[in-house]
Amino acid sequence: MNAFDYQAPRTVDEVLALLREHGDDARVIAGGTALVTMMRQRLVLPECLVSLRDVAGLGGIEATKGELRIGALTTHREMEVSPLVKDRLAVLAETFRRVATVRIRHMATVGGSLAHADPNQDPPVTLIALDAKVEVRGAAGRRELPLGTFFRDYYETALEPGEIITAVTVPPLPAASGAAYVKFLPRSADDYATVAVAAIVTLEADGQRCREARIALGSVAPTPLRAQAAEALLPGEQRDERLLRAAGEAAKGEVNPLTDHRGSAEYKREMTALMVGRALTQAWEAARQAY
Ligand SMILES: Cc1cc2nc3c(=O)[nH]c(=O)nc-3n(C[C@H](O)[C@H](O)[C@H](O)COP(=O)(O)OP(=O)(O)OC[C@H]3O[C@@H](n4cnc5c(N)ncnc54)[C@H](O)[C@@H]3O)c2cc1C
Repeated sequence: MNAFDYQAPRTVDEVLALLREHGDDARVIAGGTALVTMMRQRLVLPECLVSLRDVAGLGGIEATKGELRIGALTTHREMEVSPLVKDRLAVLAETFRRVATVRIRHMATVGGSLAHADPNQDPPVTLIALDAKVEVRGAAGRRELPLGTFFRDYYETALEPGEIITAVTVPPLPAASGAAYVKFLPRSADDYATVAVAAIVTLEADGQRCREARIALGSVAPTPLRAQAAEALLPGEQRDERLLRAAGEAAKGEVNPLTDHRGSAEYKREMTALMVGRALTQAWEAARQAY
């Protein structure tokens, strides 16, 4: 690891001033679970680390206007155990519970998980399915963008130089909706997903047919993504094996996985089809119970 200067500002304005002053030589650090590893591997060599740990106003989970507002410094463990998250969006608590080990979940943060933009991470998949928005601050002020447009490529996001994530906002599920997160990981329970699927199903007034479905996929492309062709097959339909298989096959055509130590690209495509069917089944069941 290289020698570096460590700064612990107290306000977002101080963070932004430090990022302006040090430019490309500075990196913000939140939980440090990804950044410290990358520094040890000498993949990044920042001269100045700007810690977010002591910055006021970046933590906490609150309900505003029906939405959940999650501060960037909120840890994965806080998301997993929060009564507010469990009550409003149980699928989100469950998704964070599936991340790595409890030790890592105590350190890793929501903002770090999005800024890191590793396509194998769990939280971005469910947050995309939930139509979450990212709140960002930089020299030009504050802006908010849909998470669906935030990820650009492997480890690349829409963040401009000098910008930080300050929060994520998540709207409530529509009435008569159910959600599920399915993480397929054949190696060990604390591994990254081989394929991950978040599904949300909203039912029509008859409690049987699908009004709207959202399906997000992780670990099968350079970024997490919405399976739009699969989603388009569901509105107006009743659940049956043929429909679930058709949605899975459509999703399979939308992914672009890498062959790696978790499986071949072909294997991941096949598992995508299967896991989409499984996630839709669970979300549909949950929607029926919510109806
Ligand atoms: C062994 C191991 C296994 C893991 N397994 C999983 C898993 O299965 N699923 C999963 O989802 N995750 C997993 N993780 C966690 C994940 O890979 C990242 O390490 C974690 O999400 C990063 O969060 P952090 O707060 O520690 O970020 P940091 O390491 O502090 O930062 C990561 C990057 O984000 C930037 N950054 C951090 N916060 C902000 C911010 N607010 N605004 C702008 N930029 C910011 C940093 O500059 C850096 O570039 C695992 C981690 C480890 C070490």
